[in-house]
Amino acid sequence: MGNLRIGQGYDVHELKEGLPMYLCGVRIDAPKGFVAHSDGDVAIHALCDALLGALALGDIGKLFPDNDPAYKGIDSKILLAKVMDKVREEGYRLVNADITIILERPKLRGSIDLMRETLAPILGCGTDCISVKATTTEHLGFTGREEGCASLAVCLLEKD
Ligand code: MG
Repeated sequence: MGNLRIGQGYDVHELKEGLPMYLCGVRIDAPKGFVAHSDGDVAIHALCDALLGALALGDIGKLFPDNDPAYKGIDSKILLAKVMDKVREEGYRLVNADITIILERPKLRGSIDLMRETLAPILGCGTDCISVKATTTEHLGFTGREEGCASLAVCLLEKD
């Protein structure tokens, strides 16, 4: 019986007109984008925190401080790859991950498969092990007012 670890992550970024939006490493054609030190990919940030949380290795802010110029504008896929290096160093592999993106606009349905295909090689698993879901908050709250985007992620890791 392998050693199993579960992790969860949550992230929010502010939305502003004229900025790019990246979610799960995919550029999204959207009226607003993320205010962030990195590229603001909330979905990847939540996933990084889930992976780190599963192994009690702290969080993304501890690993990649947002006042460090090295991470200014950085592609979050690079951060995820670094987090996966840590997961492997600890002897674990990803069993599966489930990500929820909470965004009022645009609808993400057409980008979901590309997101899963983008994450799979970084995570070292098949697309069948990566779930990406999108939902709105029915115009309620900061996501509903299109002031921000939130993301939740859970993951399961296994040590052989
Ligand atoms: Mg973040």
